[in-house]
Amino acid sequence: MKLLVTGGAGFIGSAVVRLAVARGHGVVNLDALTYAACLDNVTPVADSPLYAFEHADIRDRAALDRIFAAHAPDAVMHLAAESHVDRSIDGPGAFIETNVTGTYTLLEAARAYWTAQGRPDSFRFHHISTDEVFGSLGPTGKFTETTPYDPRSPYSASKAASDHLVRAWGETYGLPVLLSNCSNNYGPYHFPEKLVPVVILKALAGQPIPIYGAGDNVRDWLYVEDHADALLRVLTQGTAGRSYNIGGENEATNLDLVHRLCAILDGLRPKATPYADQITFVTDRPGHDKRYAIDPARIRTELGWRPSVTLDEGLRRTVEWYLANEEWWRPLLARDGVGQRLGQIPVQ
Ligand code: NAD
Repeated sequence: MKLLVTGGAGFIGSAVVRLAVARGHGVVNLDALTYAACLDNVTPVADSPLYAFEHADIRDRAALDRIFAAHAPDAVMHLAAESHVDRSIDGPGAFIETNVTGTYTLLEAARAYWTAQGRPDSFRFHHISTDEVFGSLGPTGKFTETTPYDPRSPYSASKAASDHLVRAWGETYGLPVLLSNCSNNYGPYHFPEKLVPVVILKALAGQPIPIYGAGDNVRDWLYVEDHADALLRVLTQGTAGRSYNIGGENEATNLDLVHRLCAILDGLRPKATPYADQITFVTDRPGHDKRYAIDPARIRTELGWRPSVTLDEGLRRTVEWYLANEEWWRPLLARDGVGQRLGQIPVQ
């Protein structure tokens, strides 16, 4: 298949690009290269004849029309988004622009292209979304595909809006759409302002490791390469019009997660005192959802997908990757707003 992947220079999009090319798919990576992008993430496939890059914004309809016509993709995998909850609280406008207006513009360009192609049933528009659209859980229960939407942050509200648009384009215009909602990802190439890299980089810098509130918020963690594998499974085997929840069934409190990372660092880069001694509790994020948990029964039973690594194995691989790839993450600390969020980690 030839895939048009939006956001392919980001964290999850680049994992999809690397895996799709490795599996023999043609990939057109469409990315606006915002502060969160890094083309080094796709270096392993950049020289492949299967790979092409298009520097474009999903809000730019003329650019999208040109790219659809030039590359004639069989499917769209839509991952381009503003993705950081804290940034959405500080400045929600960009989230509405890209996640809502951008998704609308991409849907319209895809619909025009699909119509010009004779509306093939085989075309797919796969929208990649988050479990945060479902809101916050109490101590029990899990999100299923039929859980009502209840977004509580500007980020999750903008993603919920985009999910609704995609479903509407499927119902109203017959565009063959697929949706997937995934839990928190972690792994290599994760942008340094997100929780797992923050913990690793703060620990290595000998600085306080910040944890929101009491650290008792629960997240369901999935290794990014397992998410990429699940997304290709949904794209190639999922039923048009359906949505799939993707999760690793790896629930952990933030405090537990940070302790696990510290213990891995204690083993891989020992120092006089345990890294956990650097843990510091900071004022909680406003509207901080208490617990997310995914019920992945549909993707398991209908598509036979399961994650390949445990949380401990995935975290160990992630820590090892950050220890070995300082030349990847250190320059990113100088990017717009990243230094302020990370505090005083020295930027070279
Ligand atoms: P990311 O921030 O790492 O990457 C987003 C990419 O989109 C960047 O390369 C950026 O340059 C690009 N982009 C942003 N605005 C654009 C625009 N207007 N036009 C074109 N490109 C643009 O995000 P991520 O963590 O890789 O998330 C990818 C998708 O997966 C998002 O839709 C996100 O909502 C979803 N998701 C993320 C997680 C997670 O834990 N990170 C979990 C579930 C779902």
